[in-house]
Amino acid sequence: MSLKGKTAVVTGSNSGIGLGVAEELARAGADVVLNSYTDSEDDHALAERIGKEHGVTARYIQADLSKGAEARALIKQAGRCDILVNNAGIQHVASIEDFPVEKWDAIIAIMLSSAFHTTAEALPIMREAGWGRIVNIASAHGLRASPYKGAYVAAKHGVVGFTKVTALETAKEPITANAVCPGYVLTPLVESQIPDTMEKYGMDRETALNDVILTRQPSREFATTEQLGGTVAFLCSDAAAQITGTTISVDGGWTAM
Ligand code: NAD
Repeated sequence: MSLKGKTAVVTGSNSGIGLGVAEELARAGADVVLNSYTDSEDDHALAERIGKEHGVTARYIQADLSKGAEARALIKQAGRCDILVNNAGIQHVASIEDFPVEKWDAIIAIMLSSAFHTTAEALPIMREAGWGRIVNIASAHGLRASPYKGAYVAAKHGVVGFTKVTALETAKEPITANAVCPGYVLTPLVESQIPDTMEKYGMDRETALNDVILTRQPSREFATTEQLGGTVAFLCSDAAAQITGTTISVDGGWTAM
Protein backbone atom coordinates (compact mmCIF):
# COMPACT_ATOMS: atom_id res chain seq x y z
CA MET A 1 0.00 0.00 0.00
CA SER A 2 1.27 3.45 -0.86
CA LEU A 3 -0.04 6.72 0.52
CA LYS A 4 2.41 8.68 -1.64
CA GLY A 5 0.97 12.04 -2.62
CA LYS A 6 -1.44 12.12 0.34
CA THR A 7 -1.09 14.53 3.26
CA ALA A 8 -2.04 13.35 6.74
CA VAL A 9 -2.79 15.68 9.64
CA VAL A 10 -2.45 13.87 12.97
CA THR A 11 -3.50 15.84 16.04
CA GLY A 12 -1.60 15.35 19.30
CA SER A 13 1.28 13.62 17.57
CA ASN A 14 4.45 14.61 19.43
CA SER A 15 3.96 11.61 21.73
CA GLY A 16 2.30 8.22 22.18
CA ILE A 17 -0.32 6.90 19.77
CA GLY A 18 -0.37 10.02 17.57
CA LEU A 19 3.37 9.76 17.01
CA GLY A 20 3.02 6.04 16.22
CA VAL A 21 0.29 6.83 13.70
CA ALA A 22 2.30 9.64 12.06
CA GLU A 23 5.34 7.32 11.76
CA GLU A 24 3.28 4.54 10.18
CA LEU A 25 1.57 6.87 7.68
CA ALA A 26 4.97 8.36 6.77
CA ARG A 27 6.35 4.82 6.33
CA ALA A 28 3.48 4.24 3.88
CA GLY A 29 4.62 7.34 1.96
CA ALA A 30 2.24 10.04 3.20
CA ASP A 31 3.44 13.56 3.92
CA VAL A 32 2.60 14.27 7.53
CA VAL A 33 1.65 17.23 9.70
CA LEU A 34 2.43 16.72 13.36
CA ASN A 35 0.74 18.77 16.05
CA SER A 36 0.52 19.54 19.73
CA TYR A 37 -0.05 22.62 21.89
CA THR A 38 3.70 23.12 22.55
CA ASP A 39 6.14 24.76 20.14
CA SER A 40 9.57 23.50 21.16
CA GLU A 41 12.74 22.73 19.22
CA ASP A 42 12.11 19.05 19.98
CA ASP A 43 8.67 19.23 18.30
CA HIS A 44 10.16 20.56 15.06
CA ALA A 45 13.15 18.19 15.28
CA LEU A 46 10.72 15.27 15.53
CA ALA A 47 9.06 16.27 12.27
CA GLU A 48 12.46 16.71 10.65
CA ARG A 49 13.55 13.23 11.80
CA ILE A 50 10.37 11.57 10.46
CA GLY A 51 10.66 13.41 7.14
CA LYS A 52 14.28 12.33 6.65
CA GLU A 53 13.74 8.76 7.81
CA HIS A 54 10.82 8.09 5.46
CA GLY A 55 11.63 10.44 2.58
CA VAL A 56 8.43 12.45 2.98
CA THR A 57 7.57 16.03 3.84
CA ALA A 58 6.93 16.30 7.56
CA ARG A 59 5.93 19.51 9.29
CA TYR A 60 5.06 20.43 12.86
CA ILE A 61 2.21 22.91 13.42
CA GLN A 62 1.47 24.18 16.93
CA ALA A 63 -2.23 24.48 17.83
CA ASP A 64 -3.97 24.26 21.19
CA LEU A 65 -6.96 22.08 20.40
CA SER A 66 -8.83 23.14 23.52
CA LYS A 67 -9.62 26.23 21.40
CA GLY A 68 -11.94 25.74 18.45
CA ALA A 69 -10.35 28.57 16.44
CA GLU A 70 -6.90 26.97 16.75
CA ALA A 71 -8.23 23.55 15.73
CA ARG A 72 -9.68 25.13 12.59
CA ALA A 73 -6.48 27.14 11.95
CA LEU A 74 -4.43 23.91 12.10
CA ILE A 75 -6.27 22.48 9.11
CA LYS A 76 -6.18 25.80 7.22
CA GLN A 77 -2.43 26.06 7.80
CA ALA A 78 -1.86 22.46 6.71
CA GLY A 79 -3.43 23.44 3.35
CA ARG A 80 -3.92 19.86 2.21
CA CYS A 81 -5.63 17.27 4.35
CA ASP A 82 -6.35 13.95 2.64
CA ILE A 83 -6.13 12.02 5.90
CA LEU A 84 -7.31 13.49 9.19
CA VAL A 85 -6.51 11.64 12.40
CA ASN A 86 -8.17 13.17 15.45
CA ASN A 87 -6.03 11.80 18.24
CA ALA A 88 -5.18 14.53 20.79
CA GLY A 89 -6.36 13.66 24.27
CA ILE A 90 -5.98 14.04 28.02
CA GLN A 91 -7.34 12.17 31.03
CA HIS A 92 -8.54 13.09 34.50
CA VAL A 93 -9.83 10.60 37.06
CA ALA A 94 -12.29 11.75 39.75
CA SER A 95 -15.80 11.02 40.96
CA ILE A 96 -18.61 13.02 39.38
CA GLU A 97 -19.14 15.21 42.44
CA ASP A 98 -15.41 15.95 42.75
CA PHE A 99 -14.72 16.38 39.04
CA PRO A 100 -13.14 19.84 38.49
CA VAL A 101 -15.30 21.81 36.05
CA GLU A 102 -12.24 23.10 34.16
CA LYS A 103 -11.03 19.51 33.64
CA TRP A 104 -14.47 18.47 32.34
CA ASP A 105 -14.48 21.41 29.91
CA ALA A 106 -10.91 20.74 28.75
CA ILE A 107 -11.51 17.01 28.12
CA ILE A 108 -14.69 17.65 26.11
CA ALA A 109 -13.00 20.48 24.16
CA ILE A 110 -9.76 18.64 23.33
CA MET A 111 -11.21 15.20 22.54
CA LEU A 112 -14.72 15.87 21.22
CA SER A 113 -15.19 19.48 20.09
CA SER A 114 -11.78 19.62 18.35
CA ALA A 115 -12.82 16.66 16.16
CA PHE A 116 -15.89 18.63 15.10
CA HIS A 117 -13.80 21.72 14.27
CA THR A 118 -11.06 19.87 12.33
CA THR A 119 -13.60 17.73 10.46
CA ALA A 120 -15.64 20.80 9.47
CA GLU A 121 -12.51 22.42 8.03
CA ALA A 122 -11.15 19.24 6.41
CA LEU A 123 -14.30 18.05 4.60
CA PRO A 124 -14.32 20.80 1.91
CA ILE A 125 -10.60 20.14 1.29
CA MET A 126 -11.23 16.38 0.93
CA ARG A 127 -14.21 17.01 -1.38
CA GLU A 128 -12.07 19.27 -3.55
CA ALA A 129 -9.37 16.55 -3.71
CA GLY A 130 -11.99 13.84 -4.39
CA TRP A 131 -10.71 11.52 -1.66
CA GLY A 132 -10.54 11.51 2.11
CA ARG A 133 -10.04 9.40 5.20
CA ILE A 134 -11.06 10.50 8.69
CA VAL A 135 -9.90 8.34 11.58
CA ASN A 136 -10.92 9.32 15.08
CA ILE A 137 -8.92 7.74 17.89
CA ALA A 138 -11.68 6.97 20.37
CA SER A 139 -11.15 4.27 23.01
CA ALA A 140 -12.55 1.12 24.55
CA HIS A 141 -14.09 3.83 26.73
CA GLY A 142 -16.06 4.93 23.65
CA LEU A 143 -17.89 1.59 23.92
CA ARG A 144 -17.69 0.74 27.63
CA ALA A 145 -17.62 2.79 30.84
CA SER A 146 -15.45 2.85 33.95
CA PRO A 147 -16.20 4.73 37.17
CA TYR A 148 -14.37 8.04 37.81
CA LYS A 149 -13.73 8.70 34.13
CA GLY A 150 -16.96 10.63 33.46
CA ALA A 151 -15.59 13.28 31.11
CA TYR A 152 -13.35 10.85 29.21
CA VAL A 153 -16.11 8.24 28.73
CA ALA A 154 -18.61 10.95 27.70
CA ALA A 155 -16.14 12.48 25.21
CA LYS A 156 -15.19 9.11 23.69
CA HIS A 157 -18.82 7.95 23.35
CA GLY A 158 -19.42 11.34 21.71
CA VAL A 159 -16.54 10.76 19.30
CA VAL A 160 -17.99 7.39 18.27
CA GLY A 161 -21.38 9.02 17.63
CA PHE A 162 -19.84 11.92 15.72
CA THR A 163 -17.87 9.44 13.58
CA LYS A 164 -21.13 7.76 12.53
CA VAL A 165 -22.68 11.11 11.58
CA THR A 166 -19.57 12.03 9.56
CA ALA A 167 -19.78 8.70 7.74
CA LEU A 168 -23.45 9.19 6.88
CA GLU A 169 -22.89 12.74 5.60
CA THR A 170 -20.07 11.49 3.31
CA ALA A 171 -21.50 8.05 2.45
CA LYS A 172 -21.95 8.76 -1.27
CA GLU A 173 -18.45 10.25 -1.62
CA PRO A 174 -14.97 8.67 -1.71
CA ILE A 175 -14.51 9.72 1.91
CA THR A 176 -14.70 7.41 4.92
CA ALA A 177 -14.91 8.09 8.64
CA ASN A 178 -14.15 5.50 11.29
CA ALA A 179 -13.17 5.32 14.93
CA VAL A 180 -10.32 3.23 16.29
CA CYS A 181 -10.91 2.08 19.87
CA PRO A 182 -7.68 1.16 21.67
CA GLY A 183 -7.60 -0.65 24.97
CA TYR A 184 -4.61 0.17 27.17
CA VAL A 185 -1.45 1.37 25.39
CA LEU A 186 1.57 2.23 27.55
CA THR A 187 1.89 5.94 26.72
CA PRO A 188 2.38 9.02 28.96
CA LEU A 189 -1.44 9.20 29.30
CA VAL A 190 -1.52 5.77 30.98
CA GLU A 191 1.81 6.26 32.80
CA SER A 192 0.22 9.23 34.60
CA GLN A 193 -2.47 6.92 36.07
CA ILE A 194 -0.01 4.35 37.47
CA PRO A 195 1.24 6.21 40.62
CA ASP A 196 -2.34 6.81 41.86
CA THR A 197 -3.23 3.17 41.26
CA MET A 198 -0.09 2.02 43.16
CA GLU A 199 -0.95 4.31 46.06
CA LYS A 200 -4.66 3.47 46.14
CA TYR A 201 -4.08 -0.30 46.29
CA GLY A 202 -0.70 -0.24 48.09
CA MET A 203 0.91 -2.13 45.19
CA ASP A 204 4.24 -2.05 43.39
CA ARG A 205 4.24 -0.96 39.75
CA GLU A 206 4.23 -4.45 38.25
CA THR A 207 1.31 -5.63 40.41
CA ALA A 208 -0.67 -2.43 39.73
CA LEU A 209 -0.20 -2.95 35.99
CA ASN A 210 -1.07 -6.66 35.95
CA ASP A 211 -3.70 -6.89 38.71
CA VAL A 212 -5.53 -3.58 38.23
CA ILE A 213 -4.91 -1.79 34.93
CA LEU A 214 -4.65 -4.77 32.59
CA THR A 215 -7.53 -6.74 34.17
CA ARG A 216 -9.88 -5.14 31.63
CA GLN A 217 -7.69 -6.45 28.80
CA PRO A 218 -8.04 -10.26 28.51
CA SER A 219 -4.79 -10.56 26.53
CA ARG A 220 -3.03 -9.05 29.61
CA GLU A 221 -0.80 -7.20 27.16
CA PHE A 222 -0.67 -3.53 26.21
CA ALA A 223 -1.49 -2.69 22.60
CA THR A 224 1.42 -0.85 20.95
CA THR A 225 1.58 2.48 19.16
CA GLU A 226 2.88 0.61 16.08
CA GLN A 227 -0.24 -1.61 16.07
CA LEU A 228 -2.43 1.50 16.28
CA GLY A 229 -0.48 3.09 13.43
CA GLY A 230 -0.92 -0.04 11.34
CA THR A 231 -4.67 -0.04 11.98
CA VAL A 232 -4.98 3.57 10.86
CA ALA A 233 -2.85 2.86 7.76
CA PHE A 234 -5.18 -0.05 6.90
CA LEU A 235 -8.21 2.26 7.17
CA CYS A 236 -6.48 4.55 4.66
CA SER A 237 -5.93 1.72 2.17
CA ASP A 238 -8.11 0.80 -0.81
CA ALA A 239 -9.13 -2.42 0.98
CA ALA A 240 -10.96 -0.24 3.51
CA ALA A 241 -12.84 1.92 0.99
CA GLN A 242 -16.21 0.45 2.05
CA ILE A 243 -15.47 0.49 5.75
CA THR A 244 -17.16 3.60 7.09
CA GLY A 245 -19.11 4.67 10.17
CA THR A 246 -17.78 1.87 12.32
CA THR A 247 -15.41 1.21 15.19
CA ILE A 248 -12.35 -1.03 15.15
CA SER A 249 -11.23 -2.24 18.56
CA VAL A 250 -7.54 -2.81 19.27
CA ASP A 251 -8.05 -3.87 22.86
CA GLY A 252 -6.86 -7.42 23.49
CA GLY A 253 -10.47 -8.59 23.87
CA TRP A 254 -11.70 -5.91 26.35
CA THR A 255 -14.97 -5.22 24.53
CA ALA A 256 -15.65 -8.91 23.89
CA MET A 257 -16.55 -9.15 27.57
P1 NAD B 1 -0.21 10.96 25.07
O1 NAD B 1 -0.32 11.77 26.31
O2 NAD B 1 1.06 10.27 24.76
O3 NAD B 1 -0.61 11.82 23.79
C1 NAD B 1 -1.59 12.80 23.81
C2 NAD B 1 -1.27 13.81 22.75
O4 NAD B 1 -2.28 14.83 22.76
C3 NAD B 1 0.09 14.50 22.99
O5 NAD B 1 0.74 14.71 21.77
C4 NAD B 1 -0.34 15.82 23.60
O6 NAD B 1 0.61 16.84 23.41
C5 NAD B 1 -1.62 16.08 22.80
N1 NAD B 1 -2.46 17.11 23.42
C6 NAD B 1 -2.93 17.16 24.70
N2 NAD B 1 -3.60 18.31 24.88
C7 NAD B 1 -3.58 18.98 23.70
C8 NAD B 1 -4.08 20.24 23.28
N3 NAD B 1 -4.76 21.05 24.10
N4 NAD B 1 -3.86 20.61 22.00
C9 NAD B 1 -3.14 19.82 21.15
N5 NAD B 1 -2.64 18.64 21.51
C10 NAD B 1 -2.85 18.22 22.77
O7 NAD B 1 -1.42 9.91 25.17
P2 NAD B 1 -1.90 8.75 24.18
O8 NAD B 1 -2.19 7.60 25.06
O9 NAD B 1 -1.02 8.59 23.03
O10 NAD B 1 -3.30 9.34 23.72
C11 NAD B 1 -3.63 9.60 22.37
C12 NAD B 1 -5.12 9.33 22.15
O11 NAD B 1 -5.37 7.93 22.34
C13 NAD B 1 -6.03 10.08 23.13
O12 NAD B 1 -7.16 10.56 22.46
C14 NAD B 1 -6.41 8.98 24.11
O13 NAD B 1 -7.64 9.24 24.72
C15 NAD B 1 -6.48 7.78 23.19
N6 NAD B 1 -6.39 6.51 23.87
C16 NAD B 1 -5.28 6.17 24.60
C17 NAD B 1 -5.25 4.95 25.24
C18 NAD B 1 -4.06 4.50 26.03
O14 NAD B 1 -4.15 3.45 26.70
N7 NAD B 1 -2.94 5.17 25.99
C19 NAD B 1 -6.34 4.08 25.16
C20 NAD B 1 -7.45 4.46 24.43
C21 NAD B 1 -7.46 5.68 23.79
